[in-house]
Amino acid sequence: MTKTDWISEEIANLQAAGLFTQIRTVSSPQGAWLVVDGRRVLNFCSNNYLGLANHPRLTAAAKSAIDRYGVGPAAVRTIAGTMELHLKLESHLAAFKGVEAAITFQSGFNANLAVIPALVGKGDVVYSDELNHASIIDGARLSRAEIVRYPHTDPAGLRGVIQEQRPQEFKRALIVTDGVFSMDGDIAPLPEIQAVAQEFDYLLMVDDAHGEGVLGNGGRGIVDHFNLHGKVDLEVGTLSKAFGVVGGVVAGRQIIVDWLRQRGRPFLFSSAMTVPDVAACLAAVDLLEESDELVQRLWDNTRTFKQAMVALGFDTGASSTPITPVMLGEAQLAQAFSRSLFEEGVFAMAIGYPTVAQGKARIRVMISAAHSREDLDHGLAAFEKVGKHLGVI
Ligand code: PMP
Repeated sequence: MTKTDWISEEIANLQAAGLFTQIRTVSSPQGAWLVVDGRRVLNFCSNNYLGLANHPRLTAAAKSAIDRYGVGPAAVRTIAGTMELHLKLESHLAAFKGVEAAITFQSGFNANLAVIPALVGKGDVVYSDELNHASIIDGARLSRAEIVRYPHTDPAGLRGVIQEQRPQEFKRALIVTDGVFSMDGDIAPLPEIQAVAQEFDYLLMVDDAHGEGVLGNGGRGIVDHFNLHGKVDLEVGTLSKAFGVVGGVVAGRQIIVDWLRQRGRPFLFSSAMTVPDVAACLAAVDLLEESDELVQRLWDNTRTFKQAMVALGFDTGASSTPITPVMLGEAQLAQAFSRSLFEEGVFAMAIGYPTVAQGKARIRVMISAAHSREDLDHGLAAFEKVGKHLGVI
């Protein structure tokens, strides 16, 4: 026996259960088509909602910023000073979102790890949707506040768990929900959740990672979508999906952003986004300010694809966003489906336990503004062929 034998056993178990994640190698830029494991395939996997990951304006902005500022920030912002580029991105993001202030982080994951422990701690409580993203769960755990899960997208259930807990007299409380749930593509009923937060005067935070650049006027996100401006204390977002780059952002009230500059640990103890990241994100914000054309195209593509999938007989779950889960049930079936799609020239990954519940495995199709009508038709033909072959439709 060696001290890592247990890992070998765990990996063998994952493989036997069809739950071992195979990571494929991409050797092309992001876009509607990719070269994956040496083969040109249609891309139905990435979160490149608006096709910005390889947009000429973003790549040009990154290159010229490198010429002017170099590559790295070289240290934590509080210690070595903050580059003017980061401040510019933050003020542009705040203006785009229509909030008082914004602060950036190295990723959306880090933003959640920063925010939750900065706002609540021991003796406090976090009310968290039971299907919230892993980074919210981890941020809540790090905070050492009591975590109370409420039923998925259920404001009455939220009120119920709050009323059950009240006698325990927590000092502070934070309600947190994903805006768009990344595995199912459903949208949180934010107006009703906000009403509960207001009723109890609790802080409200929404993680809009899959809503930025997707929901709301010109992609301004879930708060804009529901016209809740000024009523949600903070929005966490990512710059790694619709914005096409990498990074995280917290947008909202000035006082909260000021506090995060003092107490957000990934801000205080980890170096900032790199120069090309920031410059490319600035170009993305400019693009979105100028036109909603890409957002419109994303939604046109989404409608076209989903209608056709339902007509073919697939179950696309509860999604009302470009995230299109194709529900298959068992992990082995989802993996076999994904492999067959790849043979047909379509890259769409199977998602199974523990990312989603046991028995709820699926192929998750991510629609993008980068897809043409012909691309969607190609994908649909592959789904039809594989679906019939595997007896799903
Ligand atoms: N929150 C949610 C809801 C997400 O889906 C993701 C990405 N999977 C993140 C946060 C993390 O974002 P990032 O990739 O920028 O770390």
